[in-house]
Amino acid sequence: MKRIAVITGDGIGREIVPEAVRVLEAVEVELDYVYIDAGEGAFKKTGSAISAEAIKTMKGCDAILKGPTTTPLGGGFRSIAVTLRQELDMFANVRPAKSYGKKYGAVHDNVDIVIVRENTEGLYCGIEIDESDDVKKSVLLATRNGCERIVSYAFEYAKKNNRKKVTAVHKANILKKTGGLFSSVAKEISSGYPGIEFDEKLVDACAMLMAKEPQKFDVIVTTNLFGDILSDLALGLTGSIGLGASANVGEKYAMFEAVHGSASDIAGKGIANPASIILSSAMMLDHIGLEGGSRIRNAVEKCLKEGKKLTPDLGGGATTTEFTDYVISKL
Ligand code: NAD
Repeated sequence: MKRIAVITGDGIGREIVPEAVRVLEAVEVELDYVYIDAGEGAFKKTGSAISAEAIKTMKGCDAILKGPTTTPLGGGFRSIAVTLRQELDMFANVRPAKSYGKKYGAVHDNVDIVIVRENTEGLYCGIEIDESDDVKKSVLLATRNGCERIVSYAFEYAKKNNRKKVTAVHKANILKKTGGLFSSVAKEISSGYPGIEFDEKLVDACAMLMAKEPQKFDVIVTTNLFGDILSDLALGLTGSIGLGASANVGEKYAMFEAVHGSASDIAGKGIANPASIILSSAMMLDHIGLEGGSRIRNAVEKCLKEGKKLTPDLGGGATTTEFTDYVISKL
């Protein structure tokens, strides 16, 4: 039986993660769940946001299902998501953004973009320098190996999923060293995939084009910070960040999580959209080789298209539990 480490997380994590488990139980996949305490709640209880023991346990599992965790602004402990992506070397962050029609909050119809974000380098590499009280530096790291493996992952993803185009997004006109390396590696690797169209965009122009004509994008491969921002933009175009599922994948480990955060503004109200984590759990089933992922995706898609039991972020009046019940009824 496959073992799944479950991080319920903070804020709305405590409301949406149990709903994903309910859906997994409804598709009758046999999974052994190991619950891990991590995030702000764990920090307040134990003084540590995630323990070494917890990371060891996760390494012994087949996958991790993670709810959002709160990260303090400025000082305090480091983001759990960023820590795990680096500790477990889960270098590829796959973030699909698909719209289900303007009627249900989407800004554009027919958005179907997959953002493949580099997860371990860039400005999130964790090298920060206190030069003085008034001067601070954060290092932007790019390595050939890091660029090669993320761009190759994006092309392989495109090939496997019958996608037609990969766009490399960077800022190589200004970040000549790091962006330049990413751009030249992307060009090199694209030549090995003649069946897949390749182009490049500067991140600022890309943001503008995504807002105006998102249908022009298929798979986007980009560096850490740009991927973080562009994936929220892409989800905004689909109507709600509450639809944002994601996979963090490395050679050995994989973690599936909602793209969004712990949403303190709606936490405790029972109205968070659980689609993000439910769809993440479908990606998890595909990854660990169990059936049920397509059934879950189809059921969520039916509910979103019917639009009867939508949560308030999509313009409806349903609760988190009512939406999940509806998904389960469509399985
Ligand atoms: P957020 O994603 O939590 O919220 C942004 C907005 O989107 C809010 O208005 C919120 O109500 C809404 N929203 C988010 N998820 C929703 C859902 N499922 N259904 C309906 N509405 C939803 O972003 P934030 O407020 O900038 O961050 C809050 C905390 O989460 C911070 O501590 C941040 O560091 C953390 N965070 C964690 C992760 C993670 O664990 N991977 C990711 C992003 C942010």
